Amino acid sequence: MGACYAIVGSGPSGMYAADALLKVQPDCQIDVFDKLPSPFGLIRAGVAPDHYKTKNTARQFTRTLELDQVRYLGNVEIGRDLSVQELLDNYDAVVLAIGAYNDRQLGIPGEDLPGVYGACAFVGWYNGHPDFRDLDPLLDGGAVAVIGIGNVALDVCRVLGKTPAEMNGSDVAEHALAAIQKAPLTDLYQFGRRGPLEGGFTPKELGEVRDLERCAAIVDADQLPGEVGEGFDGRTRGVKEKNLAILKELAAQEKPDKPIKMHIGFYAAPKEILGTDRVEGLRLERTQLRDGRAVGTGEFFDVAASAVVTAIGYQTIAPVGVPMEDWGTVANQDGRVAPGLYVVGWAKRGPSGTIPTNGPDSRAVADLIAAEITPGGRPGGVAIDAMLTIRDIRVVDFTNWKVIAEAEVARAPDGHPQEKFTRIEEMLAVLDD
Ligand code: NAP
Repeated sequence: MGACYAIVGSGPSGMYAADALLKVQPDCQIDVFDKLPSPFGLIRAGVAPDHYKTKNTARQFTRTLELDQVRYLGNVEIGRDLSVQELLDNYDAVVLAIGAYNDRQLGIPGEDLPGVYGACAFVGWYNGHPDFRDLDPLLDGGAVAVIGIGNVALDVCRVLGKTPAEMNGSDVAEHALAAIQKAPLTDLYQFGRRGPLEGGFTPKELGEVRDLERCAAIVDADQLPGEVGEGFDGRTRGVKEKNLAILKELAAQEKPDKPIKMHIGFYAAPKEILGTDRVEGLRLERTQLRDGRAVGTGEFFDVAASAVVTAIGYQTIAPVGVPMEDWGTVANQDGRVAPGLYVVGWAKRGPSGTIPTNGPDSRAVADLIAAEITPGGRPGGVAIDAMLTIRDIRVVDFTNWKVIAEAEVARAPDGHPQEKFTRIEEMLAVLDD
């Protein structure tokens, strides 16, 4: 008899792990758990809605979830409905593919004010994630300040800056599109504490802000170096050179007369979020680079904003009992956490890389599992199903999910591929109907 495995999380790293386990052990059985009825994690709730083609990766994962050896158990939260220990008792191995679901904190005064949002929440809001459906961000001032100069910060600014026509073909949540269009936006700020060459963004994403209909990207030529200097090699150097060329192009552009300005600023570290009852602005300190680190110069400046979005990275929240590192990943060695317990993806290595980055990473952990685990005749899904029935947990299997997904497509407004249900009850109601 083949081994039985549980994978916790149906995002890219979990699904790549399922594919890889099936490749090395074609006779294994895999149960994939997700706390939401909807599968695919960041593909659905993290990838920008106007990057809809990127979401095509879900097709490959759909084929995996349709295989006889794989079951999808959506709407089951590990840590609430079942414990990690119960999974370990019933499966030959358990793979945590739980991502990084918590926004890192800045640790500056004012961070608790209404109007401060982590990117996980803000991106989840416009992507229709049920946990952030009611975020209702304070977009009623003219300006939003985004902290960080990675691709997530660019995503946030671009989605705020686009017109409804430019969002055609996207699966942006209707409530968010309406709120963004109603917002009297004039200025979007993106602040990096280091320089343009240290930015985490990539050329394709940076290039997308060049020609937005109602939003002009503004870059100060004085903040750009003449060329990419020492310290960047190979592929990284190529990326930095392309980024710099795009930034120079933006800096040289005649300032187009568009209603929204997207200011991409460098050498500015956030020091305080200003406001008494809600966000009114952001105080920053000018910085200089010293040995690659941002060092304050003692010169401060303020910008007015009704909302601040922090796009400074994420941390993992693991179920009770899973050992964590201080910096927010699951404690592991090459993916091994404890006997029978493994971790993949952002929960293993931190929040970096694109969806395909997870492929080789998950494959390496699958190889490790195949080498270390001797199938022990554990009951697997049979025992787990009995526990879920006794606990009255409503499992959404993959057939159920496809019914919900079809209903999302059927109710899509013109020009959009789907209109996601943004509340779990709405998804379950489709099945009741
Ligand atoms: P990121 O690229 O690491 O960017 C994080 C940003 O936050 C950096 O600019 C960082 O500055 C800044 N930061 C961190 N702590 C800070 C602090 N205390 N004060 C001020 N700034 C701070 O991460 P990300 O944008 O969250 O993206 C995560 C991963 O997903 C990345 O690998 C990204 O490429 C990927 N992603 C890809 C796409 C795409 O391919 N289209 C889209 C979205 C995300 P320092 O560098 O100075 O620390």
